Amino acid sequence: SSKPQQAQGAQKAAKTAITPTRDENYAEWYQQVIRGADLAENSAVRGCMVIKPWGYALWENMQRVLDEMFKATGHQNAYFPLFIPLSFMQKEAAHVEGFAKECAVVTHHRLEAGPDGKLRPTGELEEPLIVRPTSETIIGDAFSRWVQSYRDLPLLINQWANVVRWEMRTRMFLRTAEFLWQEGHTAHATKQEAVEETMRMLEVYATFAEQWAAIPVIRGEKTANERFPGAEQTFCIEAMMQDRKALQAGTSHFLGQNFSKAAGIEFLDQNGQHQHAWTTSWGMSTRMIGGLLMTHSDDDGLVLPPKLASVQVVILPIYRSEEDRARVIEYCRSVAAELRAQRFADRPVAVVVDERDERGGDKVWNWIKKGVPLRIEVGPRDIEKDALFVGRRDRAPKDKQSIPRGEFVASVSTTLQSIQDGLYARALEYREQFTRRIDSKEEFYDYFTAPRVAENAPTPIHAGFALTHFSGDSQVEEKIKADLAVTVRCIPLDKSEPGTCPFTGKPSPQRVVWAKAY
Ligand code: AMP
Repeated sequence: SSKPQQAQGAQKAAKTAITPTRDENYAEWYQQVIRGADLAENSAVRGCMVIKPWGYALWENMQRVLDEMFKATGHQNAYFPLFIPLSFMQKEAAHVEGFAKECAVVTHHRLEAGPDGKLRPTGELEEPLIVRPTSETIIGDAFSRWVQSYRDLPLLINQWANVVRWEMRTRMFLRTAEFLWQEGHTAHATKQEAVEETMRMLEVYATFAEQWAAIPVIRGEKTANERFPGAEQTFCIEAMMQDRKALQAGTSHFLGQNFSKAAGIEFLDQNGQHQHAWTTSWGMSTRMIGGLLMTHSDDDGLVLPPKLASVQVVILPIYRSEEDRARVIEYCRSVAAELRAQRFADRPVAVVVDERDERGGDKVWNWIKKGVPLRIEVGPRDIEKDALFVGRRDRAPKDKQSIPRGEFVASVSTTLQSIQDGLYARALEYREQFTRRIDSKEEFYDYFTAPRVAENAPTPIHAGFALTHFSGDSQVEEKIKADLAVTVRCIPLDKSEPGTCPFTGKPSPQRVVWAKAY
């Protein structure tokens, strides 16, 4: 049954639609929210998931919004091969080193049945092909042909694609072996233009996270230890999940001339001089779905921010007799039509009437677990009053209100916006509550080691973010990582005052964000 389990005999009552709860076992709660909402499932291939229609609809909305933002900033979409010749990867030393350990490699191009009838790969390729883990090298090769003169620049390209990184520890959406993403790749005539592009796209990601996914993020730069292999500088947006771990939700890289030298992206400048282009790359992936889930969902399941929900309002006809059925459904359809004539976030409000022949209670819990922002229940008595029984996903399941039909329809857009804003505010408050400014090494170690394990809970609850001064020594970072599994998530762009590093006693230009991370 999709209903929350009720007390049975002497058993303790489970009052939530998802078991275990976040406090009981956060990692398992995450899996159960995915299952309860029917977002995705594990597949026969280790580390690869099947994204089901409810999860894919969310991805499509993310794609649509991001794609519009990329186009509004001058980018065009294109598509490049899935396979990268081994020799291409070899061209940029740091890049190879970073990705070598997680590459899927194609070495054969045929299957033949042996004497035992089993298929075996044959027809060895002369040059192995790597299934793209990212496309800097193969796109760089195309750019080297497309760019001849300063007039060909800037070149602003985006690709929507799947990539493969042979990750050893995978988790649905957050870290999968194959994932869907977009990767922007741009080439510029000057360093300054490339740096500006890097920062512009970081801001696009931050805007998307905050205004669409309702996830507050810290914009910052990665330390050398966490930099993209081959980049000069990596910028990121970091968010706090409800177990207080950090999630890197998008990255934008300034690649300098490293990849343009490796791929030979050269142009003649205005003075007829040969120059290497300056390049950038930036990516956001299906990880964002995991981030959105972990930011907003509760012990009753998924909570969708209205601006990305593929269904914003669900209408549930409630009837007992066959005679009521037709009347109730007709009323529901007319409410749906009125709601669809309303607009939210520049689009018609997305409404579904759930006419499936199932128990009313099961249906309600089904949509709660799917995270739909507004639920309307309509029975014969509501029709008589011309009122709707409305539940908001950002409130308790039982907290429902009868609202006159006209009033609800007229204010639906405002209501959706208030849910959107409320989710953002709640997430920001949570992050602030679990972020501490720390000025001594002792307090720092205490903060990250103090026991925070709820009774009987298999997963520890983490401390949160720590803001400390840091002089930037990578040995210090490595020691802290080894001691506490805590890393510098980023050096925030909105700089704090200078101070003293509590780990080295040296001067520090500003505070950095430390946390455990996904
Ligand atoms: P990168 O190319 O490493 O900068 O990653 C680009 C984007 O993809 C970032 O937003 C990452 O969070 C995300 N990402 C990296 N690895 C994975 C993975 N295994 N599964 C899902 N998303 C990923």
